[in-house]
Amino acid sequence: MQLTDEQRAFREELREYLDENVEPVVDEQDKEPFTRAELLEYVDDLRELGVGFDPETAESYFGDLRRYTICSEEMSRVWPSLNVALNMSFPSLFAQFASETTRDAMRPKLNAGECIGCLAVTEPGGGSDTARPRTTARKEGDEFVINGEKTWVGNAQIADVALVVAHDESTDSQDMFLVDQETAPFETEGISKLGWKAVPNGHIYLDDVRVPVDNRLSMMFENAIMEGKDISDIVPFPESVTQLFLDQKPLNATFSFMRTGMAFMAVGIMQAAFDESLAYAKERETFGEPIGQHQLIQEKLYDIKCALETSRCLAHRVVELLEEGSPDARMMSSLAKGYACEKSVDATSDAIQIHGGEGLKTENRLERYYRDARTMPIPDGTTEIQKLIVGKELTGMAAY
Ligand SMILES: Cc1cc2nc3c(=O)[nH]c(=O)nc-3n(C[C@H](O)[C@H](O)[C@H](O)COP(=O)(O)OP(=O)(O)OC[C@H]3O[C@@H](n4cnc5c(N)ncnc54)[C@H](O)[C@@H]3O)c2cc1C
Repeated sequence: MQLTDEQRAFREELREYLDENVEPVVDEQDKEPFTRAELLEYVDDLRELGVGFDPETAESYFGDLRRYTICSEEMSRVWPSLNVALNMSFPSLFAQFASETTRDAMRPKLNAGECIGCLAVTEPGGGSDTARPRTTARKEGDEFVINGEKTWVGNAQIADVALVVAHDESTDSQDMFLVDQETAPFETEGISKLGWKAVPNGHIYLDDVRVPVDNRLSMMFENAIMEGKDISDIVPFPESVTQLFLDQKPLNATFSFMRTGMAFMAVGIMQAAFDESLAYAKERETFGEPIGQHQLIQEKLYDIKCALETSRCLAHRVVELLEEGSPDARMMSSLAKGYACEKSVDATSDAIQIHGGEGLKTENRLERYYRDARTMPIPDGTTEIQKLIVGKELTGMAAY
């Protein structure tokens, strides 16, 4: 894939930032979930590079899909948790289009680029079955009253706004609702987990939470269009991608986008594991020669490199399809997410094996690569669900 000079320069700038500012602290900082202040420090730095979700940077970040994917890969090569916490903040983008109440409450944070978001889809009683949310939005006058529970939500405990998937009882359909912590507070509770340690994942409890009707996502789009705005003013994707939001359910289009990012994340993790494994294979000696001289170690390097390069090619193919606005983008983003995430588990496991006992020491990074990779095949739809999406797209028959 050919990058433009501008994209290449962006990648170099980002690599420089990551090497200087993130690489030296990642091992220590990945032990605990980000506090709000810790994440905002990175958000602030990254805005300088045109990466983020505040009104000013969203356009440069989303307007060029290659920048978004460069970011997913490069950031995940150094610190996957940072990539996730940053990207899961995307619902903050919608705060400026919500009701006046929410806009007024969030304006100072939005202006300062300090509005953290989260996407609340998964429910304790539903899991992979996201099509039938039990969380309800009951219309009462000019408000929706939201009740339900969400789980595993990234950034839940530090978010200013949550985009909540719920069943809108007034239209008997699924929609999304922007809930802000200032005017419609919700309770949260953290979850401790194996990988992506710095991402604050948590439960969200919505107990008679009231939001203005204008906080319903479909209403935000309608209002904006009535005010003469274009959808790309709200979600500043290239036109082809915006079209996918019109052709498909918005949640499906969102997942196509996020799953592409996940495939690039898996590539970033594999790249880091490969680089360290190759260096170690040349340096570590057994039986009087570098372990890289042993054929079975060369086979492992082959396997990791193969997983890395095939996943990278597949991920780039999805970007091409998204850029074309192809209807195959949904199927291929699922295929790439499913494939690359599973491969990252194998590749990081092989990387540990190449390192022998050193690979298991918590003072080294290999075990973090493995924990982060092992986390990949579950969020944004498990591998099993990706297979069923591909199956449905291929056959026209839904097995879920
Ligand atoms: C680290 C992490 C971050 C996350 N971040 C977010 C977030 O920011 N926002 C959010 O809303 N959610 C988030 N999630 C939730 C995530 O999307 C769900 O965990 C995922 O969709 C699976 O749901 P579940 O864990 O309840 O598993 P289940 O749905 O209970 O699945 C259990 C097992 O059964 C399999 N299975 C389920 N249904 C089928 C079927 N029809 N056919 C075959 N196999 C099936 C699954 O593949 C899995 O192996 C996150 C999860 C994790 C682990």
